[in-house]
Amino acid sequence: MKSLPDWTQKVRAWREKYEAMIAPEWRGSLEKQIIVFEFDPKMTATAGQYRGHLTHSIKLSPWMQEREAEETFAHEYAHFCAYLLYGEIEHGFFWRSFMTCFGHTAEVTHRFPLGTRCILVGIDAKLAEAEEKKEAEK
Ligand SMILES: [Zn+2]
Repeated sequence: MKSLPDWTQKVRAWREKYEAMIAPEWRGSLEKQIIVFEFDPKMTATAGQYRGHLTHSIKLSPWMQEREAEETFAHEYAHFCAYLLYGEIEHGFFWRSFMTCFGHTAEVTHRFPLGTRCILVGIDAKLAEAEEKKEAEK
């Protein structure tokens, strides 16, 4: 497992990288937002989590290879963009569009060592619950 400062630098670099892929007219409102990033060692079954409304946070599991961690970051960052710009909280049209824009496959889970790719919490508890249920039924 990499040390925390190392991940912190990577997360900063990933945010800059994906931010640069967004059209300038949208970038302005995204880059001034504070996103709290955290690598949570307790996350052993879920790769990532986005929580957003008045504040935004992205939690990632540290139990991943760097490439998987970056892909998961992109996944959660796409949630942030889709929510902030379009109010979308699911793995819907805008989230998929951002994933494509970032050069990643817009799959919620796929060939992934950790059981769940992502959980959405705190945006609207009921909708997030519905989303999780929908995912579980797939
Ligand atoms: Zn997700």
